[in-house]
Amino acid sequence: MNKSIWLRWRQPLIIFVLCFAGLGLIQNFIKSTLFQIDLSNRANIPLDTTDSAAVLRSLGISNLIPQLTFTCSPHDISELRMADQDSTHVHYLQLKTPKNECSVYGYVAPIDPASIINKSIKINDISISPYTNNRLIIVKHFSNGASLLAVSEPFTKLLYHSKTKRENIAITLTYKNQHITISNVNKKTTKHRLFKKDLPHNFSIEVFVTEQGINDVTKKDLYLINSVSMFALIVLCLLLGLNNNHQNTVKSMIDNGIRNKEFIPYYQPIINSVSGEIIGCETLLRWHKSNGEIIPPNAFIDIAEKNKQIYEITDLLIEQVTADIASLKDLNDQFYASINVPPHQLENQTFATKLLQKLSEHDISNHRLAIEITERTPFTDFESAKSVMQRLIDNDISIKLDDAGTGFGGFSYLQELPINTLKIDKMFIDTIGTCDVKANILNAIITFGKKANLIMIAEGVESLDQVEYLREQGVFLIQGFVYAKPMPFKDFKQFIKTCVESDNCLDCK
Ligand code: C2E
Ligand code: CA
Ligand code: CA
Repeated sequence: MNKSIWLRWRQPLIIFVLCFAGLGLIQNFIKSTLFQIDLSNRANIPLDTTDSAAVLRSLGISNLIPQLTFTCSPHDISELRMADQDSTHVHYLQLKTPKNECSVYGYVAPIDPASIINKSIKINDISISPYTNNRLIIVKHFSNGASLLAVSEPFTKLLYHSKTKRENIAITLTYKNQHITISNVNKKTTKHRLFKKDLPHNFSIEVFVTEQGINDVTKKDLYLINSVSMFALIVLCLLLGLNNNHQNTVKSMIDNGIRNKEFIPYYQPIINSVSGEIIGCETLLRWHKSNGEIIPPNAFIDIAEKNKQIYEITDLLIEQVTADIASLKDLNDQFYASINVPPHQLENQTFATKLLQKLSEHDISNHRLAIEITERTPFTDFESAKSVMQRLIDNDISIKLDDAGTGFGGFSYLQELPINTLKIDKMFIDTIGTCDVKANILNAIITFGKKANLIMIAEGVESLDQVEYLREQGVFLIQGFVYAKPMPFKDFKQFIKTCVESDNCLDCK
């Protein structure tokens, strides 16, 4: 197989195989859960066992009793027939008086209440017993010696309709300590699993079911779940593969860009809003592609960082920035160019060694370069980063915390690391003059910065109102479109020249 295709599809394929195997392993669990849900949905058995009146009410025949004359007259037979028709839970009704017997079939009464098996649940003057075909037989005894007998619809029908054969399911009804088996199977020959559903009024139902029964009952839902899961998995893997494809394409384009030195620093001035002096600049990457396209960093930095290509890009940038600074004339003493360095790169002493070497190669004072570390990605080796930073500080290279307040380190970075400057993120500057809750965070950052004696630079400042507000709060160092956008070195050189000549950068735009 082509190597790049394998690289692109390896991860989605592994995910697919693992998820597929996982889905296979949890099939039994899904089936059990489905069966239990199905049982819970179906087992809302209407039998209310609070007292005997409630039992008759829940069968839908409580109105029958006041109508009966207990003589098995044609009137009684007709009442029995009507009650039978009206009730969805009753299959057959019969009345036995001391003198007569009758049922919905007329004067015939095929069931003798006395012959009903003695295993029954007793609630006051009512007894509930199992009957053939998974039915219940409910007998109410009256004080006048009469009894009313009702045969329920089959419980298996109520619970499982025709989803599985009867021999797969056994149902036991329990009331307090009394149990009756509604439908039975030979548990000796088949392996059963037990499911239980508690019902109101101390009533519960236990279902013993064979593997085949579970399969039959859950078949449709299981098929649906498996199909949806497989579909989602395939879509996910395809998207992952295609995304990898995109990332791999960008990755190889970045490699190409590195080879052709297409990554160029742009410079954005940082200006003291009180004195009008330019105190430094931030270098911001732009990708000048051979076709003339200029790509902003947000389109490639993440991928370059993920593939560690950012190390080479930073090296390229340092090479160009040091050469550019070396060519600048008439800089004031404090002027510096800061470069953005990802936390990982700062964990390596080689980075510091190369940086110091470049500065000395171009004969530039070390303080002309500063490092910005972002809060947005964490350090993996904090101690190493700390010692690299200390080495840089000892060599006059200052460290600034970028995007302060937005990311991982929070202000704990400031306690642990030798940082002397906070760069306040545009996110907070944008809240100036608005009711956004983050406006309070801006004020808190400024108060903190002052207390901790940190230099503060406001980033992303776009209006003079914002400059004014920040000045009132004691933040004078401004980086933003209000003064200048990031620009190529040629323009930046001109910007500095104009600043120096006019002795004020505030209107160099
Ligand atoms: P950042 O370090 O926070 O850089 C500031 C960003 O704010 C820059 O976006 C800058 O152009 C923009 N900006 C400055 N003032 C204004 C303003 O007034 N209005 C608006 N709307 N934007 C303003 P840019 O150049 O697109 O860079 C985006 C991010 O890419 C940077 O955010 C930084 O995290 C990263 N980046 C840029 N260059 C490098 C680099 O050389 N190395 C690394 N590792 N990351 C870099
Ligand atoms: Ca920055
Ligand atoms: Ca920033």
